[in-house]
This record gives sequence, structure tokens and C-alpha cells, in this order.
Amino acid sequence: MTIRKLINTVNDQYTPADIQRVEAAFEFASQAHAGQKRATGASYIEHTLATAQTLADLKLPPNMIIAGLLHDIPEDTKHTLEEIKEKFGADVAGIVEGITKLSNIKYRGMDRYVENLRKMFVAMAEDIRVIIVKFADRLHNLTTLYALPANKQRRIALETLEIYAPIANRLGIGELQAQLEDTAFKYAYPEEYSWIEQLIKQNTPGKKKTLDLMIKQLSDQLGLEKITCVEIYGRSKHYYSLYRKLLRFNRDISKIYDLVAIRVILKNIADCYAALGIIHSLWKPVKGRIKDYIAQPKPNGYQSLHTTVFGANQEIVEFQLRSQTMHEQADFGIAAHWNYKESVQKKSEKSKKEVAWVQDLARWLKEVRDNENFLEGAKIDVFQNRIFVFTPQGDVIDLPDGATPVDFAYHIHTDIGNKTERAIVNNTLISLDTKLKNGDVVEIITDKNRKGPNPEWLKFVKTRTARQHIAIHKNQSWRNLISKFKK
Ligand code: MN
Repeated sequence: MTIRKLINTVNDQYTPADIQRVEAAFEFASQAHAGQKRATGASYIEHTLATAQTLADLKLPPNMIIAGLLHDIPEDTKHTLEEIKEKFGADVAGIVEGITKLSNIKYRGMDRYVENLRKMFVAMAEDIRVIIVKFADRLHNLTTLYALPANKQRRIALETLEIYAPIANRLGIGELQAQLEDTAFKYAYPEEYSWIEQLIKQNTPGKKKTLDLMIKQLSDQLGLEKITCVEIYGRSKHYYSLYRKLLRFNRDISKIYDLVAIRVILKNIADCYAALGIIHSLWKPVKGRIKDYIAQPKPNGYQSLHTTVFGANQEIVEFQLRSQTMHEQADFGIAAHWNYKESVQKKSEKSKKEVAWVQDLARWLKEVRDNENFLEGAKIDVFQNRIFVFTPQGDVIDLPDGATPVDFAYHIHTDIGNKTERAIVNNTLISLDTKLKNGDVVEIITDKNRKGPNPEWLKFVKTRTARQHIAIHKNQSWRNLISKFKK
């Protein structure tokens, strides 16, 4: 990994000025991390360089590469975010700040709250670019996990499988998802991993011969029908996705038809359907296994035609057909939209380009937020107008935007709400009407002798639960007062 290689990757996409900024970021990071070593013994800069290289391979814009190079500076060196802002601008500093914030989110193995934790991750990142840089960072951390103690290995691996990979999946970045999963799998579940490795070793070689034969037959037929095949190849299922599928099928490998599949990339949609017809004329399709994700894409945008056939040598084989555009989309998801080269070709002026980029971002974020599947059944506004805070035990609680410690207290328990005395947020005593922010750690100090909630709280509470309970008490105290007078 060298800065030369990085520059070569982006050379034809970036302006000379952009290249200069990337080089300056590398220089700055090298100095800032000088003398620091990773657990592997490698110098620290190799980590930031590897992170930036992953982003460069995805052909992302310069500010993301620069943020990749600088991402660990505020946390791990004496240099500040302010300096980054001065040297590289507010946009880069914003991405780096987001990454630093995300490092506070840690998966502690509590299934109950895992979906909340994912939402918190996205909510705190605020900017999709932050998430992608964080993924690239994590990917390199996974490749050097071997150097860490076993308990850390497992925590980071599980966090990757439970938080990072599902988010990558929902963003439709299949390539990153698969890489994150397969690297983490080995550390999270070592025995299961060897089992899968074994299964693949035993079952793939036989299949491969069949696949080669069928690829030849299909290519010939496509040629005869004058359909241009951009690419055709056999593809093995990723380890972790095979593992998860096996768990759904009682660990029975004979039920898995897509251990290896034939992927066919065609020029356009019409050719995809034509090729599907040809495949079905060559081999008999398995009933109920034709899936048209072109007409009905998956929620994350994935598009392809899938079919399973009784192929050569009595083998059952899956085909996946897609257009070139869909192929790029499936691997890089939203990153494909952002392909820097494309946006440069479309817009000549740099300012226009930046605007388009920000608009893309906003549109995408809206899409994610509007997509109910992203939240697995939860309501849209649950995410859009929600904040996510921690209990001192690390549980993630979601509250409406603008919620206060009193709302938090009532969310935990009515009794805690009623007896709230003070609140400590991130180890600091704060007033009860303070608005909570994403990622705050909230602790409520109660007074068990307290008679009930303060009616003044009604002026600032956000949740209905809090308001109702405070109102009940207020009315009750009035009633008590009146009945006292009556006596
Ligand atoms: Mn890092």
C-alpha cells in the first residue's frame, strides 16, 4: 500500500488540484501519526492508507478519500478537528467528525436493542459518506484482527456482523457487505466457519465441471441468437451468506441450489429476458424458482433475474441475469450513483458538480428514511424525527427529537419519571429541560421521597407518556387540595 498506488487509482478521475489535496492529506496524516504503531507492528499510516485505497477503488470523490486519510487524527493524535477544517475545509472536517462520533457506538451483544443500535449508527452518521468511510476503516481493521486479543476480536467481529453488514445490505452495497461478513465470520464463529469452509471444499469441485460445461453451452446458444453477452462466469456463494442460508435449511447442504451460480451480464434488460428464455429452452426450470427482481427490485434496489434449472450431469444450477448497469449497482449500491467520473462527465463546472453531489446525497438519505423496509416494519417518522440515547447499561432508547431527561425517565418506567430529581448526561449534571442529542448517555437520579412530578415539566416534555403522567399527578394534587378545603 503506497500513496503512489492510491494516486494511480484516481489519477484519471481527479483534477490536478484534487490530487494535490489528496497528497497534502497524506503528508499531514503521515506527520500526525509519525511514530505510532498498529497492534500488528505496522506503522499507523498503513491503516489510513488502506482505508483510503478502498474508497479510491470504489471511485468515490476526493473529499471522501481525504477524510479516509485523516479519519483517526482527532482521536489518536494531538491534532484537532479545527486544524483539519483549516487545512482541508469544513466538508472534510464534517466527515471526519462524523467518523469520530461513530466510534462511541459499541455493540455489546444485546439482541433486544440491535435494531435501535443500527438506527442510531445511521442517525449519528448524518451523512452517508461518513458511513462509507467508516466501512472502509472497519474493513481494514478486520484484516488485522489477528493481532488483537481474543475477546476484542470477537467483539469487533460480532459488531461487524450485527451492525455494519446489515447497514451495508440496506444501502445495497453488496460488495462491501460480503467482504465485511466473510472477514468477520471467522472470528465471530470460528467453528462454524471451518464447517462452511469444509463444505465448500467438498462440494465445489464437482459443481465446477458442470458449470464450465453449461457456460459453454449457453455462450454458444447466445451467440447463435445474436445476443451479446458482456460477461459470464461461475460465482461461489459467500461464506457467511451460505452459513445463514444453511441455518434456515436445517444445515442440509443438498437443499442449497446456489452454492455456485452462473452469473450472466448482458447489455440491456430486453437481452436479460431473452437470455432467460434461452436458458429455459436448454434446461428445464425448477418450479417456483424463477424470481424477477428486475420488475420487482429488492427493497435495497437489487435487480436481477434468478432462475434455477435441472442442468447438465443431473445438477441443479442457479442462473443470475442482469444488465451491466444493474451489475455495478449490485456491487456498489449507492456508491455506483456517485461514481466520480460519471458526474464529471455530466457536469463541467466544479460548483455544479458539488451541488449535484449534495442533492444526490439528500435524495438518497430521503429514500433510506422513507423506505419502511429499512426499519423492518417500524414507522417512517420513527427514524426521521427520532433521537437515540444510551442508558448507563448501554441499552439504546429511541425518543422523539427534542426529548428531555424527563421523557427518558418516563420511557424507562413511570415510577422513575415520577421520582426524577436530577439528570446526568455524559457524566455532567444538566437541567431537566435540556434537549437530548443522539448518542447521549443518560442517567436519572431519583428521590424516593419525592411526592410526584413537577407540573412545570409540562412546559418542556415531548412524549405523550410523560405528559399524561405529569397531568394525572397535577390533577390529583388539585383534587387533593380541593378535598382538603371541603373538609
Ligand atoms: Mn481507523
